[in-house]
Amino acid sequence: MKIAVYPGSFDPITKGHIDILKNGAEIFDKVIIAVARNSEKNAFLTVEERVELIKKSVKDIENVEVDSFDGLTIEYAKKRNANVILRGLRAVSDFEYEMQLSQANSALSSDIKTIFMITKPKYNFISSSTIKEIYLNNGDISKFVPEPVYELLQNRK
Ligand code: ADP
Repeated sequence: MKIAVYPGSFDPITKGHIDILKNGAEIFDKVIIAVARNSEKNAFLTVEERVELIKKSVKDIENVEVDSFDGLTIEYAKKRNANVILRGLRAVSDFEYEMQLSQANSALSSDIKTIFMITKPKYNFISSSTIKEIYLNNGDISKFVPEPVYELLQNRK
């Protein structure tokens, strides 16, 4: 059984994240999307809110599990018997950081490989921080986030 962990802040989850997750779910037997608890600092949503929103957004994808974790991603991946860490790449600007992270993880545990996926062009510019900025300035975020995220944020206004 091939298991991938898809880690991140997901503050909030976007359609770009969902795209990567769906691709992952087609390739691996199981994908565990996991919210990093150390991303709580300066966060927009609590980890519990983020997990809840992800659960609602991915409920139709059978082989996806939603979780959160503390500490190092690689330790979490080992604990969950994962073979792969899944990450998304948008632009060249993501590359350097992601390369360092993946090489550090591979130095910590060479058994677990990092695999990168490139999102569809229409999701390329979407980031959680851009979405927060648009939302906080009363722009329309409905095209960029899954329905449950849109609803929660609308009700919060
Ligand atoms: P982190 O804080 O770990 O960067 P994010 O929640 O911002 O967490 O992103 C999690 C993963 O999803 C990262 O691999 C990131 O590159 C990827 N990602 C974020 N937005 C997109 C997008 N629009 N398309 C594809 N991948 C994305």
